[in-house]
Amino acid sequence: MLDLQKIRADFPILTQKVNGKPLVYFDNGATAQKPQVVLDAITKYYSEINANIHRGVHTLSQWATDAYEESRGKIQKHLNAKHAHEIIFTAGTTHGINAVANGFAALLQPGDEILVSAMEHHSNIVPWQMLCERTGAVLKVIPMNEKGELIRSEYEVLLSEKTKIVTVNHISNALGTINPVDYIIQKAHEVGAAVLIDGAQATPHLKPDVQALDCDFYVFSGHKVCGPTGTGILYGKEAWLNKLPPYQGGGEMIATVSFEKTTYADLPHKFEAGTPNIAGGIVLGTAIDYLNEIGFEAIAAYEHELLAYATQKLEQIEGLRIIGTAEHKTSVISFNVGNIHPYDIGTIVDKLGIAVRTGHHCAQPVMDFFGVPGTVRASFAFYNTKEEIDIFVEALQKAVMMLS
Ligand code: PMP
Repeated sequence: MLDLQKIRADFPILTQKVNGKPLVYFDNGATAQKPQVVLDAITKYYSEINANIHRGVHTLSQWATDAYEESRGKIQKHLNAKHAHEIIFTAGTTHGINAVANGFAALLQPGDEILVSAMEHHSNIVPWQMLCERTGAVLKVIPMNEKGELIRSEYEVLLSEKTKIVTVNHISNALGTINPVDYIIQKAHEVGAAVLIDGAQATPHLKPDVQALDCDFYVFSGHKVCGPTGTGILYGKEAWLNKLPPYQGGGEMIATVSFEKTTYADLPHKFEAGTPNIAGGIVLGTAIDYLNEIGFEAIAAYEHELLAYATQKLEQIEGLRIIGTAEHKTSVISFNVGNIHPYDIGTIVDKLGIAVRTGHHCAQPVMDFFGVPGTVRASFAFYNTKEEIDIFVEALQKAVMMLS
C-alpha cells in the first residue's frame, strides 16, 4: 500500500494552483514530476561538487566522477545489467535509439530487414527510416489488431534470416499496451536478429530485468522516471556495444588520437563523447533510488487500480471511445468523445486546472490505424489519486456539454 499523503508531499509542484484551480497532472506519459529529493540533489551537485569528470586530478573532479560512476552502478543494478560498462548515459530515449541505428549503418547490407511495430513512437520509426535510406535496408511493420495488440502470427511470418534488428516499445505511449517483449525477443533471436526495446513508457511503471529479457538494447528517458530532462540510458550487451562503431566523435571517447589514426576508448566511454550532463546523470540515480524505495510492485498495483477506476468512470460518458483496449495495459487512457476535437477538450479542462495530452502523441501511424486525427490522453502516475480522477471526469462532462 502506498502512503499517498506522504508521496504527494514529496512533489512540490502538486500543491500548485493552475488557472486558479488545484493542479491535476495527468500528463505523466509526456514527463513525470520531480520529487524534492531530486530537486535537492540538483542543488547539492551545483553548490558543492560541480566539476568536469574523468579528467581532473583535483578533489572536486574526483567527487563528481565518483558520483557519476556511482549513478551508473545504481542503474546497472536497477536494470540487472551484467556490467556497469553496458550502461551508457544519453540525453534520452531518442538519443539512445539514434545511437544504435547509426551504429547499425556499418553492419547492414541492401535488402536486410528492420522490423518495427505498428504502435511505435516517431522516435522509434524515423531513425530506422533514415538508416534504411543510408544502407538500402528495408523497414517492415509488425501489424496490430483493433485492441492495439501486436499480432503474433504476423510477426512470426515477417521474421526471417534477412531480419537484422527488431525494435519495439515495451509499452505504447499512445495506447498503453504492454507488449510481450520476452516473446518478441525470443522469436527474433531464433533468426539471429538483435532486439532493441524502447522502454520510455515502461520504466516509470516497472523494473525491467535486461538479463532475464535477454534484449540486446534497452533505452529509456530520465525525465519520465522523475529524473531531469536531457538524461537517459542506453543499455547494450557488451558484445553488441563492442561491435557497433561510436555515433559521435570527440573528447573522452578516444584511447589515442593522431592525425593518421584514432583508436576508441573502452566501454562505456566509447559512446560518451564530450562533457555529458553530469548533474543530470548523477540525479537520475537519485530518482531511480526514490522509485525503488517506494517499490515498483506497489507502484504498478496502485496505478492499475487508478486505470480500472478511471476506465469504468469514463465508459459511462456517452459517446466516449477508448482507443487501445489491450488485455495487458498500463495506466494510460487515450480516448475521443463523439466528433469533438481532442484539442478543444484539452483546452477546456486546462482552464479547470487539469493537464492532459491532446494530439497524435508522436504516433501518427497509430492515429491513422484507428482513423482519428488524435486523442485526449490521460496518463496516471503513482502520485495521482481517485479524487483527481473524479475531478477530471466532472470537468470532462462539462467540456462535452459545452462542445456538443
Ligand atoms: N518512445 C516512447 C514510447 C515515448 O513515449 C517517448 C516519449 N514520449 C519517446 C520514445 C521519446 O522519448 P524522449 O523524447 O524522452 O527522447
